Amino acid sequence: MKSRVQYALEQLKDMGVRVTPQRHAILTYLLDSHTHPTADEIYRALSPKFVSMSVATVYNNLKLFIEAGLVRELTYGDDSSRFDADLSDHYHAICEQCGKIVDFDYPKLSDVEQTAAQASGFVVRGHRMEVYGICKSCSSK
Ligand code: ZN
Ligand code: MN
Repeated sequence: MKSRVQYALEQLKDMGVRVTPQRHAILTYLLDSHTHPTADEIYRALSPKFVSMSVATVYNNLKLFIEAGLVRELTYGDDSSRFDADLSDHYHAICEQCGKIVDFDYPKLSDVEQTAAQASGFVVRGHRMEVYGICKSCSSK
């Protein structure tokens, strides 16, 4: 069975994108992590292994992955975007103290798009929602 990384790499190859070791490492890191890292966090995690890699390299690769539909960019009002390789429908709970993002599912909310379409006459393409609070480890400090 093919792994998600293999699928993603094939998709990049189909787009005519060369898969460099750095590109491979960034993609693998994103697919393996559930922490919704920033570009800077990815850079810090991988730079010991790729000494010639810069933050700009990470950014450019993330842009490429977004264009390829492999990664989602999360913007929550602060200055640094976070990145999520989990493309399934899910929501995020965000810790106001440490910034941790935890996934949760709430399928009931899919009705909201239909309701909005009926009420507004829009062709609804999506919606976003996030929940804010204090995470478990911050609240036990
Ligand atoms: Zn926290
Ligand atoms: Mn997520």
